[in-house]
Amino acid sequence: MSEAQRIPLCEPLLGGQERRYLDECLASGYVSSVGPFVERFEAAFARQVGARFAIACASGTAALHLACRAIGAGPGDEIFVSTLTFVASANPIHYERATPVLVDAESETLNLDPDLVMQELERRARLGLVQPRAVIAVHILGQPARLEALAAACERHGVVLIEDAAEALGAGYRGGALDGRQVGTVGRIGCFSFNGNKIITTGGGGMVITDDEPLARRIRHLSTQARVPGPEYRHDDVGYNYRLTNLAAALGLAQLEQLPALLARKRELADRYDAAFADRPGLRTPARVPWALPSCWLYNLEIDAAAGIDRQTLAQRLGAAGIESRPIWTPLHLLPPYQQAPRLGGAVAEAIFARGLCLPSSAGLGTGEQARVIEAIHRATAPIRRAAQG
Ligand SMILES: *Cc1c(COP(=O)(O)O)cnc(C)c1O
Repeated sequence: MSEAQRIPLCEPLLGGQERRYLDECLASGYVSSVGPFVERFEAAFARQVGARFAIACASGTAALHLACRAIGAGPGDEIFVSTLTFVASANPIHYERATPVLVDAESETLNLDPDLVMQELERRARLGLVQPRAVIAVHILGQPARLEALAAACERHGVVLIEDAAEALGAGYRGGALDGRQVGTVGRIGCFSFNGNKIITTGGGGMVITDDEPLARRIRHLSTQARVPGPEYRHDDVGYNYRLTNLAAALGLAQLEQLPALLARKRELADRYDAAFADRPGLRTPARVPWALPSCWLYNLEIDAAAGIDRQTLAQRLGAAGIESRPIWTPLHLLPPYQQAPRLGGAVAEAIFARGLCLPSSAGLGTGEQARVIEAIHRATAPIRRAAQG
């Protein structure tokens, strides 16, 4: 299989003003964290998602760490987080020596089951027990988490809601109390990633958004070594070197300008996969809920026994045909650093993990390439059963 024929899982598409903005950086000499593109990127991003403040930072992980630090989470505090997610959703809880409590998934959205969280908050309230400091709700694979009731419950019980929207830039809510809201703006803090395979990329980078001005100020302060303005290097706290560079922000601004087109491509790919796998025995396409519009970052196909193949074998077949795929995230409670973590709920996330295979979802994936993926899956799985002829 030649390199040209290989179909990768998820690649960036750099089709806009990237080169021009990078040239501007080089010409101006502003390549580091001081520079006009950082502010332009932050302002454009805040406008795009509908937040008052946006603070660019070095990665999505840094964004989540700043969020945990800024709300004052520390030893003795619990933070609830989905178990079915990338490990970076939870690692920042450890950085602050707080305790992650892993919440099982719901099978429809694959996100944390809000009923499990709400029941636990109510139970603790009834018994006068300490509530968690925060809930980190992840919008997995770009599918918005069911936050309407959960956000209200968090508010009622004094629990901070943080959204990990690393995979979900551009996703949002329709109808109900959250109508028109984009992911990341529902909780007190929203975090995004611009890693190479995310919806938009800065090479590596992240963003924190919030409507809370003191919190925004604190997050910005912590991200810049907690340095107090002035000529002397005075620092009033232990901060971090977490700012995004001007070079990276230049890429980010160029990418953000293409967001509507990138999302449209991702959603078209998802629609085509949906149509191709509908009605095939044992293949379950992602649920399309009426109350949300997903970003369709990565397409996850669930493979049941009726497909006549398991996901490992299917992945091997695809690999042999030059098509990259990968299992959905391993639930955190199966990973060594999280095996001992307290948990809420049962084995839904594990069942999703056993079935879930993510398919090529690059915004630049051609129709012909996607047809090759679909064809390979059709060949490897059971055909549609025809009704018996008279
Ligand atoms: C990518 C990702 C992150 C971390 O982002 P980085 O920019 O890679 O640090 C966090 N959470 C989720 C759900 C992610 O997919």
